[in-house]
Amino acid sequence: MSVIPESNVDVLIVGAGPAGLMMATWMAKCGINARIVDKRGTKIFNGQADGLQCRTLEILDSLGFGHRAWREANHMLEICLWNPDENGIIRRSDRIPDTIPGISRFQQVVLHQGRIERFFLDSIAEASDIRVERGVMPSSLKIDESAVEDDAAYPITVTLRHLTEEEATPKQSSTSANGQSVQDGLFRSNLAKDDTQDLLDASKINAKANSEEVIHAKYMIGADGAHSWTRNQIGLKLEGDSTDYIWGVLDIVPITDFPDIRMRCAIHSADCGSIMVIPRENKLVRLYIQLTTTQKNGDNSGRADRSKINPQMILESAQRILAPYKITYRKLDWWTAYQIGQRVGTSFSVHERVFLAGDAVHTHSPKAGQGMNVSMQDSFNLGWKIASVVKGHADRSILKTYQSERRRIAQDLIAFDHKFSRLFSGRPAKDVMDAEGISMEEFKAAFEKGNMFASGIAVNYGASAIVAKEGSSAEQGDGTDVSVANAKHRVISDQSLCSGITVGMRIPSHKVLSQADARPWHLHEVLPSNGRWRVIVFAGNTNDDRQRDKLWKLSEVFSAPDSFLNLYTPKGARYDEVFEVLLIHKAPRHSVTVFDFPEVFRHYDEVDGWDYNKIFVDDVSYHEGFGDIYGALGIPQDGCIVIIRPDQYVSYVGSMEKPAAVNSFFAGFMKEQHVPVEAQTNGTKV
Ligand code: FAD
Repeated sequence: MSVIPESNVDVLIVGAGPAGLMMATWMAKCGINARIVDKRGTKIFNGQADGLQCRTLEILDSLGFGHRAWREANHMLEICLWNPDENGIIRRSDRIPDTIPGISRFQQVVLHQGRIERFFLDSIAEASDIRVERGVMPSSLKIDESAVEDDAAYPITVTLRHLTEEEATPKQSSTSANGQSVQDGLFRSNLAKDDTQDLLDASKINAKANSEEVIHAKYMIGADGAHSWTRNQIGLKLEGDSTDYIWGVLDIVPITDFPDIRMRCAIHSADCGSIMVIPRENKLVRLYIQLTTTQKNGDNSGRADRSKINPQMILESAQRILAPYKITYRKLDWWTAYQIGQRVGTSFSVHERVFLAGDAVHTHSPKAGQGMNVSMQDSFNLGWKIASVVKGHADRSILKTYQSERRRIAQDLIAFDHKFSRLFSGRPAKDVMDAEGISMEEFKAAFEKGNMFASGIAVNYGASAIVAKEGSSAEQGDGTDVSVANAKHRVISDQSLCSGITVGMRIPSHKVLSQADARPWHLHEVLPSNGRWRVIVFAGNTNDDRQRDKLWKLSEVFSAPDSFLNLYTPKGARYDEVFEVLLIHKAPRHSVTVFDFPEVFRHYDEVDGWDYNKIFVDDVSYHEGFGDIYGALGIPQDGCIVIIRPDQYVSYVGSMEKPAAVNSFFAGFMKEQHVPVEAQTNGTKV
C-alpha cells in the first residue's frame, strides 16, 4: 500500500474564486506559507460577476493591479430609469449618477470575473511561489480542539484528493439562439445541484484514485462558494430564505434600437417584468431579466426547472419587456439563470481556525453587483489579520474581529438586497391607489440611497481592540467579544478632532506632495496593502514653534526603547516591516527640507541612506492642483495622529499631544518581540 504524503502549511485556502484569490494575494504579499486548491481544472473565462464597486477598485489598487481593471473595464457613469407612461409604454423617467460624485477617486466599472481572477493570479505569482492547485479538493477535515489556542500548533488536518482533468471540467452544452455553442454559468448557478459529492465519488474510481495527501494547517479558509463543502464540514448553516424570483442573464452583443443600451438601465415594463441593462467591455451588454414563464421542478426542492430555461426564452422575455423597442443579437457570450436566495451564515468561523468567506457565508441577488465585491472584501478584511498572527506579530484575539466586522456587513447586505429585489422585481404601480404595485419614486429613492451602501465606502467597523472608538463588544450584535484583552490598554479616539476621518471607516484619499521631490501622490497610493500598519502624523504648520515643539516631543516618544516601534518590530527586521510612520505637514514646501523633521520619519540605513518616502506636505503641485488634504479631512491647525490598519481602515484618531496613546493602542493586541531592536536615534538634525 502506498504511503499517503503528509505536510504542514500555515494557511490552506479552499476555492480560487474572488474570495480565495484575495486571501492568497494577502498571503503572497505578506510572505506566508500558504496553499490554495480548487476543484475546477481551470479558472472561469467569461460570464459570472462583472461589477466592480469603487471601494473594490481602491482595494485592487492597493494590491498593485487596480489600474489593469480600471483600464480594461467599461466605466458606468449614469443610471437611466425607464418606467411605463400613462399609456403603458416604457419611457426614460430619470437619470442619476452611477457612483455618488466625490466618494472615491474611482467609479463603478464592469469587467468580467475571469479577468479579475487573472489579475489576482498574476499578482500572486509575482509576489510568491503560491500557485492555484487545480483539480484538487478536500475530502475530510478534522480539528484538534485541544490545540486551537496553541499558536505553534497545526490543529487542522485535511485530506486532499486530486481529480482527473475530466472530473475537474464542468459539463457545458448550451446552444445560442443562432446555433452557436456557448459557455453558460449554470454549473455555478444555484439552479444547479451541488456536484461536490459526485466529484468526490468519481475520483474514487478513476486512475488517480489513490492520489491523496494529508495537510496539517494552522488556519483554513473555506472560500468554496455558495455550496461550501467547508461550511458543511464544520457544521455551520446559512439562515434565510429563497425567493420566488427567477432571473435569466444574457451576455450579448446586442442589435437594438433602444437608445440607452450603453447606459446602466433599470427598466420596469407595465406588465411583462423588469430588466437591468449593464453595458460591458468589448461591446457586450448584460441583461438581467426577470423570467415570468418558468415552472417549478417536480422534486419539491422549490427550485425552478432549469431544463425549461434557455437563451432563446430569456431573449423573448427581454423583447416583451423592451417593446416597442427591438432587441436581438448575433453574438451570445454567456448566459445563466438563477433563483434569488438571501442567506447569511450563522457564524463565520469555528475556533478562529477555520473561516468562511464570500458566497460560502452570504448569498443574495447579483443585480446590485455586490457578491464578488463583498466576497473579496471579506477576505481582504481577514487576510492581513491571519498573516500578522501567523508571523507572531499580533495576538490571536484579533481574529474574532473578522466575524464581528464582516457578519454585520453581510446582514446589511441581505437587508439591502431584500428591499432592492422586491422593488426591482415588482410591477410598477398604475397610480397612487394601486397598493400592490411598486412606487417608482420609492424605487428611485432606494436606488440613490443604495448607491452609497453598494459602493462599499459606507462600511464602518464597530469598536474592538483594533478600532479604538466608543462602544462595547456587546454592541457587535452577535455577542462576539472583540474588546482589548487587557482593559488598561483601552484607548478611545477623539473623533471630534477631524470631521473627515471616521474611526472604523476607510481613510479617504486626497493628493499630497512628497517633501523630498515634489511628486504628487494620492494618499491611498502610499498605503499599499503589504501588511503594515501606518501611523500618520498630521503635524500642521511646523514653522509654527508650538507645532514644531509637539512634533519633536512626539518623535521622542515614538523613538524611545519602550515605544510600539521598538517593542513590536521583530529584531533584525526592516525598521518599517510592521509599522510605517508617515508625516503630512502643512508648512510651505519651499520653506523646509526633509532634514527639518525628526529622524523617525526619515530613517537612516547604512546601505540605503535616508528614507525619503515618508514625509509629505499639503501644498500646491505644479501639474495636478492642490489636494488640500487638511481642508478635505477637516484636520485641525493643531494637527492630530491617525492610526491606519493594514487594510486602510482607521483605528484611531488622537491629539498630537498624547503620543503615548499610540503605544497603549498597540499594547492591546500586539505581541512584544522579545529582543527589542536598538532604540532608534532621535532627532539630531544634520
Ligand atoms: P465563487 O466565485 O463561487 O468561487 C468558489 C470557488 O471554489 C470556485 O472556483 C469553485 O470551483 C471552488 N470550489 C467549490 N467547492 C469546492 C471544493 N469542495 N473544493 C475545492 N474547490 C471548490 N457579484 C458581483 O459582485 N457583481 C456582479 O455583477 C455579479 N454578477 C453575478 C452574476 C451572476 C450571473 C452570478 C451567478 C453571480 C454574480 N455575482 C456578482 C456574484 C459573484 O459571482 C459571487 O458572489 C462571487 O463569485 C463569490 O465569490 P467566491 O469566491 O465567494 O465564490
